[in-house]
Order: sequence, then structure tokens, then C-alpha cells
Amino acid sequence: MDQAAARLYRYIGPPELLATVDPGQSGRLLDSTQAVRAWVAQVGGEPFTYVVDAAGRLLAADRRSEHVACAGGHDVLSAGELSLRRTATGWAVAEVSNQSTGYAPEPASWPAVAAALDRAGIAHPGGFTAAFEFRRCPACTALNLVKDDDYTCCLCEAPLPTQWRG
Ligand SMILES: [Zn+2]
Repeated sequence: MDQAAARLYRYIGPPELLATVDPGQSGRLLDSTQAVRAWVAQVGGEPFTYVVDAAGRLLAADRRSEHVACAGGHDVLSAGELSLRRTATGWAVAEVSNQSTGYAPEPASWPAVAAALDRAGIAHPGGFTAAFEFRRCPACTALNLVKDDDYTCCLCEAPLPTQWRG
């Protein structure tokens, strides 16, 4: 992983949600096959919330959990939804996305996710199975999920920046 290129994403969701986050109560650390096995025993094959923290660690939480709670309110290298499947040799990604409106990470955050999955011993497909582009509308501030390369705000129809918010 190219550390120099890794970007940290700050939480951009509702501040009132951040206010409820306990920094000491982040998600479950998945850093070994044993940790992954215990986690899957808990959630079954269901998708769950994940973040990759600033140290590159994979943290998991129930899918109803907010990403910001999973991250303990801290900045992340990526965030999204993840589901796992059993293979003959261990665990593999069934589906993985960067879908987090709380952090709106870029599809380019994939290398951080891949490195965290590698550390947890989870095989992966080499990219997000579903990748999303998020853009903040400069006119009305709505967070947009860009579909079909349509860079137009879904609320006010103002043009959205084609470059990420930086
Ligand atoms: Zn707008």
C-alpha cells in the first residue's frame, strides 16, 4: 500500500450523531482469523458496517451501527459495507463497498481496505464490488451519490464538482 497516497477521511455527517459517539467504544477489531471467525459466528453471512482506522486496522460493527460509531468518532482510511463467505481455506469477501455517507470515502481508498483485509486474513477480489462516488453540492450542501456519471445535484440540480471534495 502506498502510504503517501492514502487519504484520511473526516466525519462529515450530522454533528448530533457525532455527539453520541463514545471514543472508547469503537467497532470490533478484525486482525486475525480467530477474530474473523468469532465475528462471523455473531453476524452470520449478513452484511456489516466496517471502517479502516488511521492505523490501517479493520473495525466491524453491526450493520445498523453508524460508521462514525464504529470508528469511535475518529478519521478513517475507508468505510463501507462488507459481507464475508466461507471458503475451503478460510474467509473471503462476498461483497464490499465504500458506501458510507458519514465519511464519503473515495473509490480510490481501496488499497487501504485491501491491506486491512490482508491483515485479517480475508481473501478479496482486488477492488470494491460496489464503488460509489459522493459529492457535496456547493449550492445547497446536500451530499449526493453520483449515478451514471450524472454530476447534477439531486435536490437543487446545481452542477456538482467532478473532482472529489479534497
Ligand atoms: Zn444542491
